[in-house]
Amino acid sequence: MNDETINASLVFRKDKFFRDRDSYAKWWKISCTNCEQGVLLYQKDGHGKLFRCYLNRIFAPTKYAEFQNDKAITTKKMPRLACPKCNTLLAVPILHWEGRIAYRLIPNKWIKHKLDDAAAEEFRKSVG
Ligand SMILES: [Zn+2]
Repeated sequence: MNDETINASLVFRKDKFFRDRDSYAKWWKISCTNCEQGVLLYQKDGHGKLFRCYLNRIFAPTKYAEFQNDKAITTKKMPRLACPKCNTLLAVPILHWEGRIAYRLIPNKWIKHKLDDAAAEEFRKSVG
């Protein structure tokens, strides 16, 4: 674990996965298509399409962001990711082939918005 996981202010996590993806990252807000509720603050690495949200890239809400600090976490211990407002199922836990735990996003249930640092910080505060 490094200092960046302490997260006093939002700082991109820059590890080998970041470097493997062109050392490029953006903040994305993942929202529910059905009711537009913001659900996750996510560090999206690289330029590719988003299919899954890796646990160690979720910064908010705290409930989900804290799973990455649990050394004993498994996909079976994680809840499915549902919209807190309308309860639409958005994603399910998976173990990706790289050995990274992630939420696999269900197509058409979610939308993304890119956020700058200030908007990302504000969103994080609003979702807790
Ligand atoms: Zn919703």
